[in-house]
Amino acid sequence: MKKILTLLTVVIISLTILHGCETEKKELINLAIVKEKLKEYHTGGKYNTDLNRIIKKAITEFSKITPKENSLVIFDIDETALSNYQFALDYDFGYNEEIWTEWVDSKKATAISEVKILYDMLIEKGFKVVFLTGRNRSHYDATKENLINEGYTKFDTLITRKMDALKTTAVDYKSKERKQLVENGYIIVGTIGDQLSDLEGPYHGIQVKLPNYYYIVK
Ligand SMILES: [Mg+2]
Repeated sequence: MKKILTLLTVVIISLTILHGCETEKKELINLAIVKEKLKEYHTGGKYNTDLNRIIKKAITEFSKITPKENSLVIFDIDETALSNYQFALDYDFGYNEEIWTEWVDSKKATAISEVKILYDMLIEKGFKVVFLTGRNRSHYDATKENLINEGYTKFDTLITRKMDALKTTAVDYKSKERKQLVENGYIIVGTIGDQLSDLEGPYHGIQVKLPNYYYIVK
């Protein structure tokens, strides 16, 4: 009887371990497959469908507001105003500072057309626009030129990360800059970004969260 119980225990433990392995197998997806799924999402129309739905809702929201002289909408840049999808493809969704700087300096990021529609509507209606990006101060000139080349020609300020803000989190850095804008007399009525860290913290107004399944900025 004791032997049978011992054998039974071994069988149960083995089955539990095997079940654990099976569960683990089911939960993990090979990175190569994830990358293919991301490409399918981007080029297969789903990304644009998601963007259209979000931007349409944002336009409805902003249409309800009559802007004052100092009413401001803040736009993030990467994967918000501009797309770096080609960079992601070129480097197989990889990243390091050196290749990123090369890409920024090339000014090849393209306007995200759905976001540009919202931007045009806001400018037309009389809202002020500020671009607030996590890009470093050393990327300021190339970023400004890239924005203008892609049709974002009217904005009050482009804010890039200064040296002293390089080690702070995106939420802290962006919140601090928004606070400064409010102290400078702006009324922030909305913030557009692809990261939650673009939208969290004080003084954001209407929050417009765009899709980004490629990376997370904290
Ligand atoms: Mg971004």
